[in-house]
Amino acid sequence: MMEENIAAIATPPGKGGVAIIRISGKSPLALAEKMFTPAGKTKVCDFEPYRMYPGQIDGGTFCDYGLCVYFKAPASYTGEDIVEFQCHGGESVARGILKQAFRLGARSAGRGEFTKRAFLNGKLSLASAEGVADMINGESEAEVKAGYLLYSEKLTEKVRALQSELKTLLAGIDVSVDYPEEDIEEQHIEELVIALRKLESELTELTASYGVGKKIKSGVTVAICGKPNTGKSSLLNKLLGYDKAIVSSVAGTTRDAVEGTLEIEGRKFNLYDTAGVRDSGDMIESIGIERAQSIIRSADVAVFVVDSSAKLDEEDARVLQMVQGKPLIKVVNKIDLTQDETLIDADVLTSAVTGEGIAKLMRLMYEKGFGSRAEDAAFLIEERHFNALSRAKDCLHKAIFACGCQPLDLIGIDVKEAWDALGEITGETATEAIIEEIFSKFCVGK
Ligand code: GDP
Repeated sequence: MMEENIAAIATPPGKGGVAIIRISGKSPLALAEKMFTPAGKTKVCDFEPYRMYPGQIDGGTFCDYGLCVYFKAPASYTGEDIVEFQCHGGESVARGILKQAFRLGARSAGRGEFTKRAFLNGKLSLASAEGVADMINGESEAEVKAGYLLYSEKLTEKVRALQSELKTLLAGIDVSVDYPEEDIEEQHIEELVIALRKLESELTELTASYGVGKKIKSGVTVAICGKPNTGKSSLLNKLLGYDKAIVSSVAGTTRDAVEGTLEIEGRKFNLYDTAGVRDSGDMIESIGIERAQSIIRSADVAVFVVDSSAKLDEEDARVLQMVQGKPLIKVVNKIDLTQDETLIDADVLTSAVTGEGIAKLMRLMYEKGFGSRAEDAAFLIEERHFNALSRAKDCLHKAIFACGCQPLDLIGIDVKEAWDALGEITGETATEAIIEEIFSKFCVGK
């Protein structure tokens, strides 16, 4: 499908070595002919695809010397003809060249429109397009890795295999509905139940992997709690400062401010410092306590900190009660001062001053966050995919129960619904609204 030419700057705004202007559609090469003068004798119309050509790029009121490459349909990102210009990476340079493309008839690309065209042209599935966004937006190595698995159609392949089995079952059901014979039907239902159970258990396994996938995408939430002055903030700073290069302080989730984000073994951890939990009449303090409680409630892991030089008291007991049932790491801090590790049954002894024990604390956070069975790959990181798979699983569950007590054509409806739910992942049955929402999260130029 060849559409009008769309153009956008594909590189982020700001100064850089190079900027890329991308044009996709029915005739980007004809457009390039009007704004690119190749060095030497080559003509734009004779360009070999996938080869870089140096030359002069027209920026309207100025020229730049850069490169031009032509991707020939359908072997291109969008499935259409694409031309890309690489110019010097100044915002005005790139904008001038883009404007020149607009003057020559291209229109401004919408968010994710290149990828949307790729999807509509069958170059990638909807899940794969989401993988592209996950890679671009990924804040940790694990998220990028998971995004790449999606992008490279690993989930789609699994889903398509399930869909194909469902299709076979549906075909069998149709035959039985059309030519009902009692004996055959009974045997058919037995086989059907076995097949449906197998598919249901595959879906169960897949949906279970979302536990890890979700944490990879959103990060493991860690609440650091304990009495005031035990060294919680100092520990948090030490953890964040452990590898400053990959640490960023992220302001504001909708609920609370994340104090800091850090990456442990390529996975994201969101750390929260919680205020003391003293039982007092002070209103400001009670707000702090409520906030601490809500952070702890939603945290994946709690880090309970005590001061090695202090005695345990009621307040410690109160904090411990709050974290009950959570994966917990018990920390005795300030061991540079005293070494009373008998205070609590500590998992790790730390000093926020010397840094002792911090590496072990990070390792424990990783283990508590993900369990010791650290799956290498997670391709279920999108809630949308999880919901679709869960719906498919529920439909199969319903179908299994209906087997033997409901007419086959009704069972067929459940099986078809499961197929449809899976199609939302690949995009086959996704509504226009879903598709729009997915691409609206992309940046312009992708
Ligand atoms: P929070 O109220 O629990 O957040 O505690 P802070 O992090 O504010 O620390 C309270 C005091 O203890 C500060 O003066 C810190 O410098 C000090 N502190 C924190 N951790 C350590 C540690 O491991 N060793 C020593 N010697 N002092 C610490």
